[in-house]
Amino acid sequence: MQFVAATGNKNKLREFKEIFPEHEILSAAEAGFLGEVEETGETFAENALLKARAVCKATALPALADDSGLCVDALCGAPGVYSARYASKFAPEGWDKGNRAFLLKNLEGVENRRAHFACCIALVFPDGRELIAEGRTEGTILHENRGTGGFGYDSLFFSDDLGKSFAEASEEEKNAVSHRGRAMRKLKEML
Ligand code: IMP
Repeated sequence: MQFVAATGNKNKLREFKEIFPEHEILSAAEAGFLGEVEETGETFAENALLKARAVCKATALPALADDSGLCVDALCGAPGVYSARYASKFAPEGWDKGNRAFLLKNLEGVENRRAHFACCIALVFPDGRELIAEGRTEGTILHENRGTGGFGYDSLFFSDDLGKSFAEASEEEKNAVSHRGRAMRKLKEML
């Protein structure tokens, strides 16, 4: 089957291709969708569905979209759906270093550093069927960056499963326990 991945992110496109080798995964641009879908939802599921529905409607092909972020217990789940733009008052959107610095500042003196990453993946079909899968991974927020791999908050996230930060893990190690890996495998089972 042909699916369109509702993302401009090359890494996500590659991950979708790896998890669904039996399907042909097109990028949104390859399927003729050049627009941007605004992430106006208040949950990861809402945002994933918004993107998948818009791309499915525009291309008449089944569309895959994901939304993910970091949820910190002591910050009542923040930055959550705002993870990419957490420090956007002070730094450009998507500037990982600024977001990490802002997170550390907000956790100064806070003892409870429990957190999880969450990811929702939606698959929307032209006939209206919708599948949605969620994955989570638990850990704690470190007091300083550790490791040089990964992106986003990886160097501040000490994974319960791996016993090291996500930025210290190899791609395979991270995929085996990550929120995105878990959501993708769940969606594949549902399919
Ligand atoms: P999005 O799902 O592309 O909208 O990602 C939202 C934001 O959440 C990213 O910009 C990162 O800041 C953060 N994030 C999501 N997944 C990860 C991850 O696996 N590692 C580190 N940061 C992540």
